[in-house]
Amino acid sequence: MDGDFRADFVREPGKLRHHPALVLNADYRPLSYYPLSLWAWQDAVKAAWLDRVDIVAEYDEYVHSPSTRIRIPSVVVLKDFVRPQKRVAFTRFNLFLRDEFRCQYCGGRGDLTFDHVVPRARGGITSWENVVAACSPCNLKKGSRMLRRNRPVCPLCRSLRESDNVHFR
Ligand SMILES: [Zn+2]
Repeated sequence: MDGDFRADFVREPGKLRHHPALVLNADYRPLSYYPLSLWAWQDAVKAAWLDRVDIVAEYDEYVHSPSTRIRIPSVVVLKDFVRPQKRVAFTRFNLFLRDEFRCQYCGGRGDLTFDHVVPRARGGITSWENVVAACSPCNLKKGSRMLRRNRPVCPLCRSLRESDNVHFR
């Protein structure tokens, strides 16, 4: 966490049991959404110690050093505003979110996988621009099937957030 507040978010669900801290920007919005900006408690304690964050809320548990003990922060807010991240992490969840959890060939919602629009065998790369959500049947029989929409693109964080309401019904 030296200088870059965005690099070290907790991504493995297992670690969420161990007192992660929600990191808010100076405007009290999460620093990032996908993944949600959660620090390991060690990073939160260190940031508080370095006076980079204010502690908004705490767990009931304490951590001890030889000379002191402090309550583990559960929510911290950055003292300095960090400009929101423009690029979205290329992850399974974010890709499905961009594609609204629908197959990009038939529009179905079942059994989603990934499909390389230009197959890897023909030099297609794994990127926002060349990977779409596809149901297994479409993926298997794709051949010359056309995408329902235009070229896939790399989304902005904001565009993923704005479409939040659409997905989880
Ligand atoms: Zn399909």
